[in-house]
Amino acid sequence: MSETPLMKQYREIKENHQDSILFFRLGDFYEMFFQDAVTASKELGLTLTSRNKEKGMDVPLAGIPYHSSASYITKLVNKGYKVAICEQVEDPRTVKGIVKREVVKIVTPGTVIDVDSLDATSNNYLLSVKHLDNKTGIAYLDITTGEFKVLEIEDDSDYSKTFNELYKIEPKEILVEFNFYEALKDKFDDYSKKIDSKVTLVNKLRDPENFLTDYFNIVSLESFGISEAKAAVHAAGMILDYALSMQVDGDLPLEKIEYINITNFAEINSTTRRNLELTRNQREKTSYGTLLWVLDKCKTSMGTRFLKKIINNPLLEIEEIKKRQDDLQYFMDNILIREEIKEKLGEVYDLERLAGKIVLGNENGKDLTALKKSIISSLEIMDFLRETAFFTGIDTKTLTQIRDIIEESIKEDAPFSIREGNIIKRGYNQELDEIFKIMSSGKDYLLEIEAREKERTGIKNLKIKYNKVFGYFLEVSNSNKDLVPEDYIRKQTLSNAERYITEELKEYEDKIINSKSKVEEIEYYLFKEISGKIKEKREVLNKLSEILAYLDVIISFAVTAIENNYVRPEFVDDYVIEIEEGRHPVVEKLIGREDFVSNNVRMDREGNFIILTGPNMAGKSTYMKQIGLIQILAQIGSYVPAQSARLSIVDKILTRIGAADDIVSGQSTFMVEMSEVSNIINSATERSLIILDEVGRGTSTFDGISIATAITEYIHDKIKAKTIFATHYHELTELEEKFDSILNYRIEVEERSNSVVFLRKIVRGGADKSYGIEVARLAGLPKEVLLNSKKILRGLEKRKELIEKTVNVEQLSLFAANDMVEEEKKNLKEDLYEELLFDIENIDINNVTPMEALGLLGELKKKMEEIN
Ligand code: ADP
Ligand code: MG
Repeated sequence: MSETPLMKQYREIKENHQDSILFFRLGDFYEMFFQDAVTASKELGLTLTSRNKEKGMDVPLAGIPYHSSASYITKLVNKGYKVAICEQVEDPRTVKGIVKREVVKIVTPGTVIDVDSLDATSNNYLLSVKHLDNKTGIAYLDITTGEFKVLEIEDDSDYSKTFNELYKIEPKEILVEFNFYEALKDKFDDYSKKIDSKVTLVNKLRDPENFLTDYFNIVSLESFGISEAKAAVHAAGMILDYALSMQVDGDLPLEKIEYINITNFAEINSTTRRNLELTRNQREKTSYGTLLWVLDKCKTSMGTRFLKKIINNPLLEIEEIKKRQDDLQYFMDNILIREEIKEKLGEVYDLERLAGKIVLGNENGKDLTALKKSIISSLEIMDFLRETAFFTGIDTKTLTQIRDIIEESIKEDAPFSIREGNIIKRGYNQELDEIFKIMSSGKDYLLEIEAREKERTGIKNLKIKYNKVFGYFLEVSNSNKDLVPEDYIRKQTLSNAERYITEELKEYEDKIINSKSKVEEIEYYLFKEISGKIKEKREVLNKLSEILAYLDVIISFAVTAIENNYVRPEFVDDYVIEIEEGRHPVVEKLIGREDFVSNNVRMDREGNFIILTGPNMAGKSTYMKQIGLIQILAQIGSYVPAQSARLSIVDKILTRIGAADDIVSGQSTFMVEMSEVSNIINSATERSLIILDEVGRGTSTFDGISIATAITEYIHDKIKAKTIFATHYHELTELEEKFDSILNYRIEVEERSNSVVFLRKIVRGGADKSYGIEVARLAGLPKEVLLNSKKILRGLEKRKELIEKTVNVEQLSLFAANDMVEEEKKNLKEDLYEELLFDIENIDINNVTPMEALGLLGELKKKMEEIN
């Protein structure tokens, strides 16, 4: 069976793109064949047909219209497929036989350039990791914005820092060499499951230095300050090579490589980011109820994207923080300017991605008008801020040039398509104007010729007519044949008339017939010329985007501070956290400012370890998270929810808070808990802030208490970090007496006849019981269950007593064992009384037979005897 030339061409192209779904351009459609067609029809819900059946072949076929392809491509890419776009690279009108076709780009999750299909408020990162000489190099880029960064991680034997960065950056696609992937398969797979992304295996690049210097046209990588960062350079080479191979015929908007020194920022590991819900909530992974949700009042998506980066990277330098605070204060003070700028920012489009589109060659007329409008608004913003330093160094002249180029040339209502004309304004290009003149004055022009020719020849009934075969012609009746001048060219003879054409008429006809396609052609050419000019000036657009994003975030901080009554934290070069009337920024918004009870905290050298006790639901976790969040807010330059705050810089915020998704990773809760704690203990320094929530809960009470105590002592003696440890083991409160800088706090509850009222106030001193059953009662557990749990509790406490009596009490150095036994006895008695009351309270007199009543009485009496 012979293959058609088309199928031969298809097969040859497909051979080089085995791992992709090939979108094969046929006229106005992209067609997929064979297995690609089967896959795509399944994934996209397309009809599967077949081709060439009559020739004895049965080729599965599925197609999608060219103009709506973007959403289909995105869908496939999101499902993890790679899509190769194959275009006709010749004009079918000018070729005989089969049109030449080539793959012009390949789309993967990390290389999507169709920004309309992406989330505007998130970057779409492609990332590469390379392990070299005991260092991990990471490179990441967003090809829609041109951001290209590298960093290096040292001392990371378990790769926890590496993955912390990954979770922080949240790339959609990770490039990694096979060996490295194999060694860390679980971690990579876990990442791609959690973040919904793809791992792509790549090969080692032979000479990344030369490759990079060639690409950026620089002499040495020292221009980017990375010549010594070998692992980062390798990662950068890998990623650039990959990105270029995906954009087969397009440019990338990459200007430079930026080196990030991760030690310039406070470390917030991924556990902490999850626990404190900085940018994603724990339930549905959206931003609702997160710190980002409170802070994000940004008017542009550039602002929101930048804000996420800021939240993930708290500063370490007081001076840098103060600069942000000063900028923020400026917008608190200058209300009118702030409001004007907010409005103007609302008119600014995503400049960063617009500039990226232009470089990628993916722009349309609407994009250029959006760019112009954005520049106009930006210039107005600059004018409002001319007394400030926000826009220092920006090249306003170039900006106005770009604005003017677009203003002169691009129609306000330009369409999405750049191939169908209607983009270029009249008056911009003479050739184009002439064609339009001809098109619009067509009829008049013909009448003019007709009148002139009548006059010249004296043929009264001379007429200009049109038909499909000859186009425009002059018709002369036989009677006037001899008046026809020499320059008429005869085309056709009819029985009663002759038809002629003239040079002039033919010229006109060519213009008319071709003018539409000519207009489209010229407009396309001009459009590309214009965006080419803008592309050359893109540097100023990048700079402008950067400044606007910063402004947007700072104003957003100011608005948040005003709306929620935040205060400027004071930073001192000391060892202190001192917050008056602090609030949890998220919870206060969720439950309402009036209902939220504020609390103080003070930690310094004299007291740097707080043991926080209180019943479940009292507010321990909220209080601790609030302190962590206030510290983060302060170090990103925001104001904080408090009356006042005096803080020092912390280098790390480390948390262990029981998380719901421990189960997902398949490890036991206790194992997860302990490995997180060991992580914390191994990386904390004196300057860190540690938050431990109920550590030791995952195991039995005695184990738990012992581990919790040992951890406390270790942190206290060896690390000396500021620490808050919430626990319902009230036994831990005894540590206060043993260590000077350990302080007990508890959350107040009020007991009212068998129930508790949460006061949410933190006070000095430890709690003496955990109120677990009381809280369970509040939660509406059936009385039978409550009662039974009291019985079980009592049983357990009896056993505990027994154990404590038999083990060598001296070894439990921490507890004054005898006292405790006494204490427990007292408690037990109280509980029994309580239970007695509970029982009596719960006798339903109306539903008890006399016999049952007698039995109950007997039971009650027995309990009485037990108590005495
Ligand atoms: P715990 O960790 O002690 O079990 P949580 O911190 O989880 O308690 O708090 C339980 C609930 O109490 C929270 O969901 C919140 O709605 C409320 N809460 C906590 N702290 C406060 C507060 N300071 N003011 C008002 N409500 C609070
Ligand atoms: Mg809690």
